[in-house]
Amino acid sequence: MKLYGKEKAVEVLEKTARQNRLPHAIMFSGKSGVGKKALALYAAQLILCDNNACGECACCRNIENGTHPDVIFVKKACGGKYSAEPFREVLKNAVVLPNNGKYKVYVFEDCDTMLPVHFNALLKLVEEPASHLRFVFTCANTALVPETILSRVTEYAVPDPTVDDCERFLIESGVEQEKAKELSETFSGNIGECLESISGDESKTVASARDIAAAIAARDMFSAYAKLSAQSGRNELYRIFDCLVNIFRDAQAIKYGESAENTDKDIAQKIANNFSEEEIMRMSDTAFEICSGEVFNLNAALCASYFISGIMDN
Ligand SMILES: [Zn+2]
Repeated sequence: MKLYGKEKAVEVLEKTARQNRLPHAIMFSGKSGVGKKALALYAAQLILCDNNACGECACCRNIENGTHPDVIFVKKACGGKYSAEPFREVLKNAVVLPNNGKYKVYVFEDCDTMLPVHFNALLKLVEEPASHLRFVFTCANTALVPETILSRVTEYAVPDPTVDDCERFLIESGVEQEKAKELSETFSGNIGECLESISGDESKTVASARDIAAAIAARDMFSAYAKLSAQSGRNELYRIFDCLVNIFRDAQAIKYGESAENTDKDIAQKIANNFSEEEIMRMSDTAFEICSGEVFNLNAALCASYFISGIMDN
């Protein structure tokens, strides 16, 4: 598991685990986005893996993928608030022995958002835990956690990752070097905020692609051109053409009587209705040519005119 900038915490936890002294209740405290969830998963691996959180065995992999039956992330309701129901479930199921290993690990994320009534429900379990139960809490502000709980957990303060740690994480997660550097600096190394920004950018790009495809579907080439040429940034532009290729391929599939795989079925359907097979093939080929980088060094406006003239070519 990637635990950037948490070498210290990992070292302490690992040593404690090797000495068989891992506490039955662990609390990771630190700012939002510093990687407390990753540490919670790592702690669960330490508790359950026979090989000191090797990261490679089926147990470790299942924990990382969120599919281990004995690692239970207690669910929050929509809106990120805890409701009473999951606590009832925990109380009911905690007595049931683990499926696979020695322990059942309950993880309560952002426990500083839990209400006193939730803590009270848990108190007995944490205070006098059955031998098969382990607890991991995460929180940003320990001042909001009742003393009765705090006194029964071992707290590990999670340090903020450095800008370099964050950049390294982003690059290894597939973000381009330049972008990784820019994001890490903008968000002062907060990995969570960087990831949020990336997914925000991505949904904006997908929405732009949908917009452009809708204009094309309506044969409004002028508006498609204007929207395309207004894009800034080469990567966004490539990504938009990438999305367009998918939509055009769906339109082709519909023409052949197959079903569309893309989520924008309506737009693909409209394109299929309004254009000939040959025209759609041209759209798909030209968009593919651009997003695969075959059309070199074009800025947004040039890409836009290359694309529009490419698809209108008779
Ligand atoms: Zn393992």
